Amino acid sequence: MPFLELKSLVRTFGGLRAVDDFSLDLSEGSLNALVGPNGCGKSTLFNLITGNLRPDSGTVRFQGRDITGLPPYRIARRGIGRKFQVPAIFDELTVRENLVVAGRRRGDDAEISRILTQTRLSAAHQDPAGELAHGQKQWLEIGILLAQRPSLILLDEPTAGMTPAETEATVDLILEINERQNITILVIEHNMGFIEHLACPLHVMSKGKRLKSGDFASIRGDEDVHELYFGRREPAAAEAQPYA
Ligand code: ADP
Ligand code: MG
Repeated sequence: MPFLELKSLVRTFGGLRAVDDFSLDLSEGSLNALVGPNGCGKSTLFNLITGNLRPDSGTVRFQGRDITGLPPYRIARRGIGRKFQVPAIFDELTVRENLVVAGRRRGDDAEISRILTQTRLSAAHQDPAGELAHGQKQWLEIGILLAQRPSLILLDEPTAGMTPAETEATVDLILEINERQNITILVIEHNMGFIEHLACPLHVMSKGKRLKSGDFASIRGDEDVHELYFGRREPAAAEAQPYA
């Protein structure tokens, strides 16, 4: 039984098929990346998984149960955490307070400290979250997800706007969460250096459909993908920081 099973998902906006017959199975504890040009439907697909949008047709099954169309809070409660492109943190609270609130005060000090260490925020734990550097805010949001103890994490462009050093640290962080805590991760990313270092299966999306899946080398060598993604880079990819 797949941990997460997406079956023939369709979501239209007016005449546009933003997600078009998209199917994908993720196994428990796996790390996968979703790539594709701007506007190909990646974030919409995440919205279908998290209940922020309902599919026109198709199903989402998580741990064997149909969660299609459930409200977001119920899907979150079942253990699916999601990081949006823009960090959702409380600027006025300290870094530590953000984690305590996210864990609904269940987390003990040891758990909070572990998350602070893991997200490289120990030294900043008493700072107001609003004063963090851009990259640190992204890590705090990952920490907020961890405090909610999810079993599946969806990350939407977690390295957007990061420096090469921050991007490198984020690779380590994601691998660590996946390997040590056995949390299943699906990550949307534009930065090809980042994707290469994750060394995980890639799924290429084009016009709402799953075009190809494979490892980094096979995807990079694929002509259709080259044409779609590597050949004609959209502005967001061109602006991305080169990976050191
Ligand atoms: P990606 O994340 O791959 O860049 P999106 O999933 O955000 O792409 O968008 C896919 C397509 O659906 C785009 O053409 C976008 O404009 C459209 N779209 C996304 N959300 C909405 C919405 N709420 N209403 C109308 N169109 C939308
Ligand atoms: Mg998007």
